[in-house]
Amino acid sequence: MLEKFERYPLTFGPTHIEKLERLSAHLGGKVELYAKREDCNSGLAFGGNKLRKLEYIVPDAIASGADTLVSIGGVQSNHTRMVAATAAKIGFKCRLVQESWVPHEDAVYDRVGNILLSRVMGADVQLVDEGFDIGIRKSWEDALQDVKDKGGKPYPIPAGASVHKYGGLGYVAFAEEVRAQEEELGFKFDYIVVCTVTGSTHAGMLVGFAADGRARNVIGIDASGTPDQTRAQVLEIARRTAGLVELGREIGDEDLVLVEDYAYPAYGVPSQETKDAIRLCARLEGMMTDPVYEGKSMQGMIDLVKKGYFPEGSRVLYAHLGGVPAINGYSYAFRNG
Ligand SMILES: *Cc1c(COP(=O)(O)O)cnc(C)c1O
Repeated sequence: MLEKFERYPLTFGPTHIEKLERLSAHLGGKVELYAKREDCNSGLAFGGNKLRKLEYIVPDAIASGADTLVSIGGVQSNHTRMVAATAAKIGFKCRLVQESWVPHEDAVYDRVGNILLSRVMGADVQLVDEGFDIGIRKSWEDALQDVKDKGGKPYPIPAGASVHKYGGLGYVAFAEEVRAQEEELGFKFDYIVVCTVTGSTHAGMLVGFAADGRARNVIGIDASGTPDQTRAQVLEIARRTAGLVELGREIGDEDLVLVEDYAYPAYGVPSQETKDAIRLCARLEGMMTDPVYEGKSMQGMIDLVKKGYFPEGSRVLYAHLGGVPAINGYSYAFRNG
């Protein structure tokens, strides 16, 4: 599906799939849980899902003649960290707008984790006092203008690299990779669990798995807390991406499964149940998840197993999208483990 698109390698190659034996057993052993380790996909500043998307965006950035990647996210954005790493790797400058998307007040929130890494990698980091919104922001447009005013050539990458024209391609590639791995494993996964916020990860999977009739087997766990906007954005990206890769069929509203029950109390704020899920997975598997994204999809997957959502004997693939550096901003929540 992707032959005609140029890809700039930023990742190690196909990501590892591991069985979560002890977590599966702990939850009753009727469902087999696996994790696809997108969190370990690269040597670039701890990696994660945004690098898969950026692999299809970088060739366009280089071809445009730009010299500065410009992007936006929350203070503890994983995406901006990965844009900073990519800029370093390809020899670009990097300008980042970091907004106050999370009502969270750990004393060192804007000093540790992702933002620390972005600063060390040389990005020009600007903190802006604006609330959560996955759409296009004025602060971002101002940053693009500012780069131009100073004689630079900006290349804009929207939040999460999602509404970029090629933002959905990386996770179409993920689906193709899973299909190849299923051949080797000798079985197919019945469900894929993914955390959904700005939408292109889920949208790419939707298109990629629609190719073999599995769009509805992708279970999105909303972590945005603004699910209507996220749902609309996933569908928009999926439709655009389906056109690009010539899927040969329409993406309908009914192709999208988005579970809204685990984003509470707000984007970036972990509930007691999210923290419990992070601890459980860490203690049974040594697999770390973060309080913003993967902790919520882990909580969702665990709860759905407990509720019997997945029929007995199902094989469920948890897409671990990365994000662990952000946990450093939540030291108070985990002060006692
Ligand atoms: C960005 C991100 C997500 C959400 O992906 P979207 O494509 O924005 O929906 C989930 N988990 C982690 C760790 C992320 O960094």
